[in-house]
Amino acid sequence: MFKTRVAMDDGRTLTYYDFTTAGTPPPYLAAHQQAAQQHPPGGPRLLPNPPIMRWNPTLAEWTVYAANRMNRPQLPSKDACPLEPGILELPLNYQVAIFENRAPSMAFVPDDVTLPAPRNIFEMTALARGRCDIVVYSEKHDSKLAWMPVNDIYTLVEAWRDRYAELIALPEIRYVAIFENKGRDAGMTLDHPHGQIYSFPFLPPYLQRQWDQTMDLAGQKGLWEGVIEKEEHDQVRIIAQTDGFLAAMPFYARYPYEVHIWARRRGVCSLLEMTADERRQLAGMLKNITSRYENLWPGSPFGFPTLMLMNQLSKMNGVENFRFHIEFYPLQRSPDKLKYRASVESGTGTFLNDALPEAQAAQLQAIAPQEVELPDVIAED
Ligand SMILES: [Zn+2]
Repeated sequence: MFKTRVAMDDGRTLTYYDFTTAGTPPPYLAAHQQAAQQHPPGGPRLLPNPPIMRWNPTLAEWTVYAANRMNRPQLPSKDACPLEPGILELPLNYQVAIFENRAPSMAFVPDDVTLPAPRNIFEMTALARGRCDIVVYSEKHDSKLAWMPVNDIYTLVEAWRDRYAELIALPEIRYVAIFENKGRDAGMTLDHPHGQIYSFPFLPPYLQRQWDQTMDLAGQKGLWEGVIEKEEHDQVRIIAQTDGFLAAMPFYARYPYEVHIWARRRGVCSLLEMTADERRQLAGMLKNITSRYENLWPGSPFGFPTLMLMNQLSKMNGVENFRFHIEFYPLQRSPDKLKYRASVESGTGTFLNDALPEAQAAQLQAIAPQEVELPDVIAED
């Protein structure tokens, strides 16, 4: 993999990831290297006002405020799409590009910037020391993860892994969320295929709960071993599997058609512990699951809006008990109905699902994924 880093006009940093299949040189590498020589990256960008978060004492959790995010472009056409080569953010052609969000909710804040100490828990404010990145999957505006060639998905996996390693190594970062809001009904404001990376200065509540459960069961069979064993025993909810990964609608699925992809091997807590072969398998699994989703109701006007979240942990004592996994939350429950996170889900935290996962799993199992060959890229451990 070739990685080239360039300074953008406003001081943000852009990284190009170029990959090669056997016998073919990366097509854009020379242009990216030339740009890096002309515009070498500087230090981290400073925002005029540091982002902040406030403590909610009723739930014991932080709310992050993003006051500078109100004027974002809303669903521009391809001609005006800021992710097209040469339009706004990305001057050159590219395979995969990752750059800092123009209007981040969390950002670099110098050590000497501090806030007054709170008098009590009812006025706790903190600096949102983190990072927010945009990950552009492809330069093709009309593509999506499901339709990308598996070689290109592998390039994306390698780019995610590289950026994860950089971000989690920052001393102020506790958690790095790699995610995608796919589809207009999932909150996507640009149709161009892309995802995001939010790097948090704290462990967010959802991960904190998974971590607590992981450590509660660490001395016994193990939480993730048990979850995987249950799916393998029942068989009925399994959608796809390889020797490195299992994808199933979990026994406890909260959303209709919710699928999780778990790494099978103990010790794989993040992308960093995966072998090159496991990363190739992960690229195939991503294509397998997302192409089934796209093919479930192909004529539907909603286009199967889906949230995708990568759950991975590093830098914690006992982290080998955690297991890398990807969670997909579909926001559509039938060809003509969306799934809303309504009053009960939002106000009580308890999910109501219309159907048992095994019934819905049968529908996903019956759909052929788009060709899922393993990538033939040159991979290195
Ligand atoms: Zn575009």
